[in-house]
Amino acid sequence: MTDEFKTLKKFDAANGREGFLHSLPALERHGIGKISRLPVSIRIVLESVLRNCDGKKVRRKDVETLTNWNAKSPANEEIPFVVARIVLQDFTGVPLVVDLAAMRSAVKKLGGDPKIIEPLVPVDLVVDHSVQVDFFGSAKALQLNLEMEFKRNRERYQFLKWGQQAFKTFQLIPPGIGIVHQVNLEYLAKGVLSSQPSTLNSQLFFPDTLVGTDSHTTMINGLGVVGWGVGGIEAEAGMLGQPVYFLTPEVVGVHMSGQLREGVTATDLVLYITQLLRAQKVVGKFVEFYGEGAASLPVPDRATIGNMSPEYGATMGYFPVDQESVNYLRATGRTDEQCRAFENYFRAQKMFGMPRKGEIDYSVDLDVDLADVQPSVAGPKRPQDRINLPELGKTFRELLEKPVADGGYGKKNLDLHEKYLVQLNGSAPRDRAMASTDEIDQGINPGDERNKIEMVANRPTPDSGKDIEAASSDMFTHGQSRIGHGSVLIAAITSCTNTSNPSVMIAAGLLAKKAVERGLLIDPAVKTSLAPGSRVVSDYLDKTGLQKYLDQLGFNLVGYGCTTCIGNSGPLHPNIEKAIHEFDLVAASVLSGNRNFEARVHQHIKANFLMSPPLVVAFALAGRVDVDLSREPLGKDKHGKETFLRDLWPSLSEIKETMQSALKPETYRELYRDFADQNPKWNDIPSSTGDIYQWDEKSDYIHEPPFFENFSMEPGHIKEIRGARALGIFGDSVTTDHISPAGAIKATSPAGQYLISRGIDHTDFNSYGSRRGNDLVMTRGTFANVRIKNLMVPGTEGGVTKYFAPAGETPAGPTGKMPVPQGEEMSIFDAAMKYAETKTPLIILAGHEYGTGSSRDWAAKGTRLLGVKAVVAASFERIHRSNLVGMGVLPLQFLDQTSAQSLGLDGSEIFSITGLSDKVRPGHHATLEIQDKDGKSRSVPVKLRIDTPIEIDYYRHGGILPFVLRQLLTR
Ligand code: SF4
Repeated sequence: MTDEFKTLKKFDAANGREGFLHSLPALERHGIGKISRLPVSIRIVLESVLRNCDGKKVRRKDVETLTNWNAKSPANEEIPFVVARIVLQDFTGVPLVVDLAAMRSAVKKLGGDPKIIEPLVPVDLVVDHSVQVDFFGSAKALQLNLEMEFKRNRERYQFLKWGQQAFKTFQLIPPGIGIVHQVNLEYLAKGVLSSQPSTLNSQLFFPDTLVGTDSHTTMINGLGVVGWGVGGIEAEAGMLGQPVYFLTPEVVGVHMSGQLREGVTATDLVLYITQLLRAQKVVGKFVEFYGEGAASLPVPDRATIGNMSPEYGATMGYFPVDQESVNYLRATGRTDEQCRAFENYFRAQKMFGMPRKGEIDYSVDLDVDLADVQPSVAGPKRPQDRINLPELGKTFRELLEKPVADGGYGKKNLDLHEKYLVQLNGSAPRDRAMASTDEIDQGINPGDERNKIEMVANRPTPDSGKDIEAASSDMFTHGQSRIGHGSVLIAAITSCTNTSNPSVMIAAGLLAKKAVERGLLIDPAVKTSLAPGSRVVSDYLDKTGLQKYLDQLGFNLVGYGCTTCIGNSGPLHPNIEKAIHEFDLVAASVLSGNRNFEARVHQHIKANFLMSPPLVVAFALAGRVDVDLSREPLGKDKHGKETFLRDLWPSLSEIKETMQSALKPETYRELYRDFADQNPKWNDIPSSTGDIYQWDEKSDYIHEPPFFENFSMEPGHIKEIRGARALGIFGDSVTTDHISPAGAIKATSPAGQYLISRGIDHTDFNSYGSRRGNDLVMTRGTFANVRIKNLMVPGTEGGVTKYFAPAGETPAGPTGKMPVPQGEEMSIFDAAMKYAETKTPLIILAGHEYGTGSSRDWAAKGTRLLGVKAVVAASFERIHRSNLVGMGVLPLQFLDQTSAQSLGLDGSEIFSITGLSDKVRPGHHATLEIQDKDGKSRSVPVKLRIDTPIEIDYYRHGGILPFVLRQLLTR
């Protein structure tokens, strides 16, 4: 352990313990910067840089760069940040463990010791993304969904159990415990950590810091912990001892004043902040909240705001540590020793307490008066599109008629009163409206008898649920309904964002109670679900007696996991799906999640609105979104009297009183221990053992990826890309979900066809997210989102492109008879494979914010495995850009206002990227040379979005994984 700046000091670690720390006040006394005026988030990163300064990975210069951080013009320097721990969820964690296993196999093949591949910092993986809402609205939903989850994911779980025994520093939290960020907040986070260096006689303390393979890792910022989401590829490098590199950021200081008004929730506040900060363009910046308003917010509210920082675009949404942070640790069952060490450490570092205005220098100063926040929702396609509650109905009606090109749904001459009768039970024979799922996939229109068709489900009488197959007949609510544009068909209380917050969850329960007491009912067409982020929520909903009211409305517990928030909303009743399809309905979902991009929540639901849990219950009762709940009734009570939202809405004092009676530290301690023992199903899963994973060619979940095929110890050279074809041309805001969807696999898609060819039935496809351990499925699923629009094939949706003759071939064709296809439409995967036959390099052209959305390493891995060498975009989302570099794909940015559209590109052109060599530097300019089909050439300057020197190394090595592997093998 080094002490380059002589800052190692003793401090009172509480409970009679003495500890050491690297003192920031001592560093300030050296006179190398006004550290006490730095944003707290920057100071925490500085502590890591100071503590890890060894002259190699972290240099003296790095410490000086941060101590001299200039608020108004931060140096554009790369900071090596060594984090204390890493968190993973299973969708991103499985491929990461697959990569580690593949690295071990590669090391073994090269004759090395596979154990050199071992996480060097603690890694926690929470299995939370796999549970799907197959069953709902019944007391057995939780158990049946869990059974389905284990049945579907057995192979993945077996593999994870192998990982659990193969890697020493890897803790696995099995399914059914909670959502990663809520588990992190309630259990994994310690606030301050310690280690025992051999050179010291006491423990060395340091702040809890982390990166996670999920964009909402920032939820932990609410507790004063610095951390953010990175791609799986960067997290892998972090595990293997590489610092996480980032450029010295600007820090936006948001001064909070005032208090939230009666009837306004933390969700309303976060939607307000998301809209405000999106407009302020905080992408790639740290945001730090402070002031008396911030101090007045409890940690769950702060965590809600931190959680949504990817939605406002910031790297972090950080709240400094204060008494509230310590109180939260105590209230959630952390030990007294832990809480006092946390408080004493931050006091010793002079970082304790919510800063006041003027105490810290920020790059940009913003003000938020909490009293300005109004009840609102956000949608229907983006989380930053906030709508004040009274305006929802009007906005929805306008969007229905607005042209598609302007973000609307392009419907004409609508009669919103037109509804379609849908039968949700009965045993009438299959009529012509009962098309099979495959028919629907193929776009066959089963009928056109508007307003007349009565769809009848031919389901047997519900079984008592002896086993899953029998119970599956009972997975839908029974009855009949009339649905139309704006009908709410999914109402989900879900997501770590909100379900970690007792105030909004209790508000949902109180609203449900009042609704039940008045005899209000929810239409059977609405798929209702409750999926809290941890079992603590169930405990307090049970203790307060509120769960029974939620149950009566159909918000029965369906699982502890992401469910609808990640798109695992499960099927709608088949007749509902058919009606939506047949009448092209713009139906709605309402959810307390944080993302509502097209096709994320459910493939058939086009309008998705984010809102607080109590509003989810309210809109489920109303059954529609074309309504102003501030004026119009949401239903009629048992006496036929109109009931309004204001009649059901709980007061702040009611919520507070109920909360106080239910939240106890013992509950957290009781529920967060002996995980495996609490989940016998997990124990029943057999797993293989040993240091090397035995790849099974029969598995369609876990497959050895080809990243280390033909691996050699010598990295390649940076070369120009010549004779490339466009695989896709996309507009603005293409999300990682468009590039690599997480949800359902369509039977007619390349991935679906592949699974069918492997003998897998459509019903057993599971989701893309669950197949991320298998590159053969994921490569086929790249750019396969059913809503992605490739502008090369105007008017189409889905993963289609045009295949052109490889550069250099004549249109006469190889035989001289048949012309080589010039613009033949086919799937993106098929085209990529055809181009691969002729070794034709591929590029992607895109608009602004390319790769926005969840951090998703498969969006970069799939791009690479399709043979894409470069992505040229108007701008990139932070994590996706770095993931592309991490996979050896070159991100390039158009300059000025240039775009594929302004250049008039249609994909028939031949492209070259020149000006690339081993000498390139971050931000270097290169040239995109375009040869039109008539032979004319033009040149366009583009900027390399390789942003840091280390990324040049990653790119030259073909990505982070080969870079790290070469380093480990030469140690
Ligand atoms: S999918 Fe939703 S609930 Fe799950 S971790 Fe992400 S934000 Fe949280």
